[in-house]
Amino acid sequence: MAARRKPTTRRARRAAPAPLAEHVRSLLAGLGEDPAREGLLKTPERVEKALRFLTQGYSQDVETLLNQALFTVDYDEMVIIKDIEVFSMCEHHMLPFFGKAHVAYIPNGKVVGLSKVPRLVDMFARRLQVQERLTVQIAEAIESKIHPRGVGVVIEAMHLCMLMRGVEKQNCVAVTSCMRGMFRDQMQTREEFLALVRPHLRLG
Ligand SMILES: [Zn+2]
Repeated sequence: MAARRKPTTRRARRAAPAPLAEHVRSLLAGLGEDPAREGLLKTPERVEKALRFLTQGYSQDVETLLNQALFTVDYDEMVIIKDIEVFSMCEHHMLPFFGKAHVAYIPNGKVVGLSKVPRLVDMFARRLQVQERLTVQIAEAIESKIHPRGVGVVIEAMHLCMLMRGVEKQNCVAVTSCMRGMFRDQMQTREEFLALVRPHLRLG
């Protein structure tokens, strides 16, 4: 009986997500820790749970997120969503970087439901990232779904891989931007956007 059940168990195990907790246990041992001591006993499972949450963007996509939230409107002024909290992890060190994203676009007949923009930021942020790519991906997702006259994304973030390792000055903020369409071609549009988000930028 046991022999007959074994292949089933193996198949089930293969289908299940990779057991990250076991790797975390090895990681702890590799750091010279004792994974069996009381404080660390449940750490591997906690780390796995946290990592699965922080990388859940891998199982989400732009179509599913936005398709039910695109609306036809007669509005051609700039739409700005400021101060969207960003929490991501750099792909080079798997350490957090966090800050604010500011997203703006000028509609061309269609808008994205306002509440979906922060969710779009979350979706891309909850993957291993570099700040530059995160910025471009947000702009391109909006561009591809509603074909606006222009889109601009600015992200300001602090990277723990820099701060904690003392690579750069403390409190240094990285600012990235992606400007498309009118935001790239018309200085006035770009300036209007930047003037509206500038009071929020820690770097003036
Ligand atoms: Zn890093």
